[in-house]
Amino acid sequence: MNGFDRFKELQKKQKAYQLVLGIASWDSNTEAPKACFPYRSEMLSLISGEYYALSTSEEYQEIVNALHQDPEDLSEIQKKEIRKAKKDIDKILPIPREDYVEYSRLVNLSQREWEEAKAKDDYDHFKPYLEKIIGFRKKMAHQRDPDAHPYNVFLDDFEEGMDMEKYDGFFRIVKEEIAPFAKEVLAVKDEKPPEFMVATYPRDKQKQFVEYLMDVLAFDKNRGLLKESVHPFTWNTHSKDVRFTVRYLENYLFSSVFAAIHELGHALYEQQVDEMFDMTNLKSGASMGMHESQSRFYENVVGRSLPFWEAHLPKLKKLFPRQLKGVDAEEFFRAANRVDETFIRVEADELTYPLHILIRYEIERMIFEGQIDVDDLPAIWNKKMKQYLNLDVEKPSQGILQDVHWSTGMFGYFPTYALGSAYAAQIYYTIKEELDFERLVREDDIAEINRFLKEKVHCYGKSKTPEEILVALTGEPFNPQYYARYLKEKYRDIYLK
Ligand SMILES: [Zn+2]
Repeated sequence: MNGFDRFKELQKKQKAYQLVLGIASWDSNTEAPKACFPYRSEMLSLISGEYYALSTSEEYQEIVNALHQDPEDLSEIQKKEIRKAKKDIDKILPIPREDYVEYSRLVNLSQREWEEAKAKDDYDHFKPYLEKIIGFRKKMAHQRDPDAHPYNVFLDDFEEGMDMEKYDGFFRIVKEEIAPFAKEVLAVKDEKPPEFMVATYPRDKQKQFVEYLMDVLAFDKNRGLLKESVHPFTWNTHSKDVRFTVRYLENYLFSSVFAAIHELGHALYEQQVDEMFDMTNLKSGASMGMHESQSRFYENVVGRSLPFWEAHLPKLKKLFPRQLKGVDAEEFFRAANRVDETFIRVEADELTYPLHILIRYEIERMIFEGQIDVDDLPAIWNKKMKQYLNLDVEKPSQGILQDVHWSTGMFGYFPTYALGSAYAAQIYYTIKEELDFERLVREDDIAEINRFLKEKVHCYGKSKTPEEILVALTGEPFNPQYYARYLKEKYRDIYLK
């Protein structure tokens, strides 16, 4: 057996473990009864341990290193598989096993403590855990690359090729162009949501509409399914098993509708990755940012457009004739793009959303530059909320404690959310040139848009970097100016005409 065959054999075994762990995690997040978790966590930690051992075994390391040093007999795709495997090993190995175990225990614990702190609105309760996590992250960054800036190590983890210099350039545009423009729009916002936005929409009918949306977006139901969970998410093990969830709020129809379109964007991406990658480590989307670009493209560019509601409001009105009586597509479109200052990131509209991310980016940057004391974090957070969104934070649950990310050690993740929106805008301007976009949306031919994105983005999985995909598709590397242009064109049209 040659080295590469043996590599595949070892990877296949790792994949079997990943499958089992993945299905368990899907189940934990959807169906599992609360009481099962102590037993389940204990059993699953054994399987995780086995998986860790397999993915760091000496034989596996030796084979990956040998193929990495001498890749001549490999095809281009095989070289990419080895490069990815090598990078994954290099991420884990420099961390001593005892640190790895202690860190896993810490973040497991911290997540629960964060939940409690948030429920009690008590930052001091969470503070010691946050301090420890930050200390650990700084140490781990140093173990992995003593010469790199610690924040850059994590920015690259979540979006390969991105660093502070590139993000600084991006967020400069958010700060200098999008923030002042958002202020202009907020000055003329609709003070109150229209009646129909706060009406009651029974859950079962909402579900029927979400199922209808699955067909509108040409989601393949033979290779995926829909469930319910508190936080909507998309999950998959390979291109033929792609699932997503939504939640139904009877007093807020938009929650299930736009979460469904968002998650369907993630799900379509996964269904359209070429099946040749299923058995490789190149399956799944290119990066966090590229994934988010697809979900946001479907949610905001397709789903929150006037042609979309010209096509699909009649169906919605059939399900909810009383609630939507007299509402036309134009009104529905305007409500779906209602702009407002909000404390909570996940409730923010498309225009103010990047300001929420800007706040988090600036704070994370300060944390890893060592300029910040955890005691001061809430005050810094609140000051930035006032600066960018003109809001006075009154309690930590609507400020610093709102997101789960830091309690799980995921520093460097937030920027990919805004980056994804910016990728989506850049991709949109190319699509507008290549396809009759508005007509396709209005005439309910989203499958044509899916085909385009499959060919240009989805089919490659991780075999191309986000940068390679963007250059091939749009003719230039990432350019945040498109994002500012897109937001200005769209919201000027709605609010400043
Ligand atoms: Zn998403």
